[in-house]
Amino acid sequence: MPTILFTTTQHTEHSHHHPEHAGRIDAILSAIAADPTCVATHVDIHSVPPATIERVHPASHRTWVLAQSAAASTAPQLDGDTYIVPGTATAAHLAASGACNAVDAMMQGNPSFALIRPPGHHATATTAMGFCFYNNVAIAARHAQATYGLRRIAIVDIDVHHGNGTDDIFAADPDILYISSHGWPLYPGSGAREQMGIDAGVGSTLNIPLPAQSGDQAFVQAYRDVVVPALDRFVPDAILLSAGFDAHWDDPLGNCRLSVDGYLDICALIKDAAVRLCHGRWCAVLEGGYSIRALAACTHGLVRLMSNLPRTTDLLGSKPSDPHRADAVIQWLVQNHPLLRPA
Ligand SMILES: [Zn+2]
Repeated sequence: MPTILFTTTQHTEHSHHHPEHAGRIDAILSAIAADPTCVATHVDIHSVPPATIERVHPASHRTWVLAQSAAASTAPQLDGDTYIVPGTATAAHLAASGACNAVDAMMQGNPSFALIRPPGHHATATTAMGFCFYNNVAIAARHAQATYGLRRIAIVDIDVHHGNGTDDIFAADPDILYISSHGWPLYPGSGAREQMGIDAGVGSTLNIPLPAQSGDQAFVQAYRDVVVPALDRFVPDAILLSAGFDAHWDDPLGNCRLSVDGYLDICALIKDAAVRLCHGRWCAVLEGGYSIRALAACTHGLVRLMSNLPRTTDLLGSKPSDPHRADAVIQWLVQNHPLLRPA
């Protein structure tokens, strides 16, 4: 079954001399187009109403993004990491919309991938940061609950950075399981293993900070021993993938050593969990990934995986790494996380 790719050309209006630039999506689409066996359906993003975004962000945040974007022509830099230009507000709105569109397609039984930017997982309810303005995957999760009556959503974040925004938005919500594997230490500095949620949400946040240079074996072990058992215990109604590919060894901003094959191994484990636990309901929302060739190869591979096509050769290869690099954090989480420790 072809994967539905949600895209818009309007993302190009949010671009700058910056690692997070419009060429990222172009490279992904070129890689998919170059593979005649990878049949994917391209659908233009359908804009959602502001109320959909306001399930996560107060209206004041949206007003602020609009105003900052409108005033941005002379001062594109919002903070040390994040730029804002006149096209940002529209691009960000469409990025959040694309994530919701992917949920719609998922609920109709289609594999779906929102190829969107700017990314979202660093945006908190009230703060734009880390290249992000609206938290696309969080908005998609609330959309799945509000529109389709799903109750329990798992968000699995494979970006090399901790999705502090997603973590913060759902920290007290027992119905949204946020799982993040991320390089440690790395921007934005949050996502310690002890960060497991607050109040009623204790246990519904699972952070897996992996030591720098962690590679394929360490990641796969973390997903086998921690992520999959946590999903099995939580039993989600759907799984949303925060699909960042900056844990690849070639990424200029990351500090890990995943290969394309390693990425696809952990994505296959998530797919298997979705098939086993929630009728195959899973979809992907693009986050980071700043090595253009690694981003294109990983995304192409994930689209093939979603479409039930066999894997192609990882032309970028792998880097040697210590297979036991993640042992300590895995053991700690298995013994201490409420979703993992023996009942
Ligand atoms: Zn990232």
